[in-house]
This record gives sequence, structure tokens and C-alpha cells, in this order.
Amino acid sequence: MKTLVYSSRRYDRDFLEEANNSQHEMHFVEARLEPDTARLASGFPVVCCFVQDTLDSGVLRQLKEGGTTLVALRATGFNNVDLEAAGNYGITVMRVSQYSPYSVAEFAVGMILAMNRNIHRAYQRVREGNFSLNGLLGYDLHGKTVGVVGTGRIGTAFARIMNGFGCHLLGHDKYQNPDCLQLGMQYVSVEELLLNSDIISLHCPLTPETHHLINENTIALMKPTAMLVNTSRGALVDTQALIPHLKKCRLCAVCLDVYEEESDIYYRDLSDEIIPDDIIMRLLTFPNVLVTGHQAFFTREAMRTIAGSTVRNIDDFAEGRTNENVLKPEKVIA
Ligand code: NAD
Repeated sequence: MKTLVYSSRRYDRDFLEEANNSQHEMHFVEARLEPDTARLASGFPVVCCFVQDTLDSGVLRQLKEGGTTLVALRATGFNNVDLEAAGNYGITVMRVSQYSPYSVAEFAVGMILAMNRNIHRAYQRVREGNFSLNGLLGYDLHGKTVGVVGTGRIGTAFARIMNGFGCHLLGHDKYQNPDCLQLGMQYVSVEELLLNSDIISLHCPLTPETHHLINENTIALMKPTAMLVNTSRGALVDTQALIPHLKKCRLCAVCLDVYEEESDIYYRDLSDEIIPDDIIMRLLTFPNVLVTGHQAFFTREAMRTIAGSTVRNIDDFAEGRTNENVLKPEKVIA
């Protein structure tokens, strides 16, 4: 099927072309899908999108007018899609329901290690001939309490690694996961988790219920020595609310791979430009904040699975088959 791949970079193209094997006619554009670029899809029955693309009612209407019948997301999260509007316009939406949970879990652990032991700062220092250890003091992870919010695939992979470090595990989820219970995880309320954890890692989806789960009031519950890690979705955290706590040293460290206003910033080289977002720019001034550009998923294994699954979704749609990746409006979670 004729497919327009939005927000595509060289690496997306490489993995998709390998998986596609010239089966579907794929065209690649770097542009994000948004109201101004939706017309590019005119004449394409399939558009393939990523997390920063806008798929609200207005954009979906434009896609429908251009003849699009399938949106193939190359992501698990779908908080950027108005599924009800898609249903009304007769557009099928499919996602990649799962791929290497290790990619994200391992990245979250990488952020914790880098932040706790100041590896990112040491790397810069020694390159300038500064071998001093001042300011680089960390703590043993062994024996610390780690709180996991959302104990699905990624949360469980993360919990397994932290269990290997000898950490105590607290969990919060709507459902208790037997694999996590087997690791000795204790399920508690979100308040109890925030009060008692040395490290808090978010692995739940973004829903109306979890929007700004971490806010002024819930940050106040955390230990002043706590580290917060978000590799899930930016809007789980009220980012602005972090700043006063960081300024007063009431939050020890923050690692963010995702940011609620990331869609105008991430996946682009803005090194020659003025970035108008004052919140992220202020965050970057704190030595105890580590920000990365939504890269936790970015491993060869994950990219290969995402591409393979995306092509299979298009195959199934073309052949009139359904599969577990079709999103229904009632499943409005991301
Ligand atoms: P999953 O569906 O396997 O697990 C999500 C878990 O969250 C489930 O156990 C669910 O019950 C739980 N949950 C739902 N609502 C909750 C709530 N209100 N409070 C606590 N827990 C709740 O999903 P997954 O594959 O583990 O992915 C988790 C999230 O990670 C995705 O939703 C996505 O937003 C994010 N993600 C980020 C990246 C990245 O590159 N940074 C990549 C992939 C996924």
C-alpha cells in the first residue's frame, strides 16, 4: 500500500526499508504530522506516524479527505491520537503493542547509574584534565528502596534489574503482577510509594488519571534525597512544579527522557537556535537534572521489532485481517 512515513529520520528509513522489502510503496518525509503538513498525505491510504505527530480530530479529518484509511503508529503509546475521531472518520489506527521492554528498562537504569555516580559529569571533567572527585560522591544502590509506578512489561523488566542490584521493590499498579510479586515487590498506594522510595521510576501510561501524577503535592511527599526517573510519558510529571523543589534542594535528582512539551523540541538539532521553552532551559541548568531526548526505546532490537510490526500491521490491513494492534476508542490509554 502507498504509505507516507512522517517524522522519519535516516534510521527509521533503514529499519522500515529492511522490514518492508519493497512490498509497500513507502515515501519518507522528515516533517511532523500537524495541521500544516497533513495535506502531504493526500493520495496515501496509509500514514505511518511517531510519538511527536499530531493526530487530533482536525488532522484526522484532513487525512480522511485525502483518502487515508490507516494510521500505522510506530510506537506503543497512543496518547497523541484522538481514537474516537479516527473511528468517526473510518480511519483504522494500529500501533506496535510491544517491543523490547529491555530497551526502555535498561535506559532507565542507565540514567540512574549516570546520575547517582555522576558519570556524565566525570566524563566532561576528565576531558579537561580535571581528575578531582569533589562533587562526584554517589551511593550504593544495594539496599535502597525503588518504587515502580506501572508494573507492566517495562516496569517488570526494570524491577528485575533493580532486584539484581539488591534493591527493595515497592510497586503501584491497578493490578498486581505475579512476576513482580515473585521478585518480592510489595504493592502499596502511590502515596506510600512516594514516601518510602529512594528512587521512583515511572512506567505507567499517560491517561487522564495519570496526567501530572507527579505534581507539587506529590513531590512534597518524596524524600528530599529521592531520585525521580521518567522514561514513560512527559505529562506524567508537572515539569514546572519540579523547579521550586529543585531550587530548595527538596528533590535530590531528576532524570527525564520524556518531557510534556517535547513535541516542538525533540528529534531535532536545535544547537544553532534559541530554544524558547523556559522550563526545559531552566531544568538544564541544574547539575542534578539529567535530560535526554526520548531515546529510551532506541536500540537495534527495538527498532527492528517496531519496523517489522509496523509492516505486518500494514500487511494485515491490506489483506482485510485484524490483529491485536488495532486500537479501539474504548481502549483510550497510551
Ligand atoms: P504495559 O501496558 O505493559 O504496562 C503499563 C502498566 O501500567 C500496566 O501494568 C497498567 O496496569 C499500569 N497502569 C495503568 N494505569 C495505571 C495507573 N493509573 N497507575 C499505575 N499503574 C497504571 O506498557 P509498557 O510496555 O510497560 O509501557 C509503559 C509505558 O512506557 C507506555 O505507556 C509508554 O508511554 C512508555 N514508553 C516509553 C518509551 C520511551 O522511549 N521513553 C518507549 C516505549 C514505551
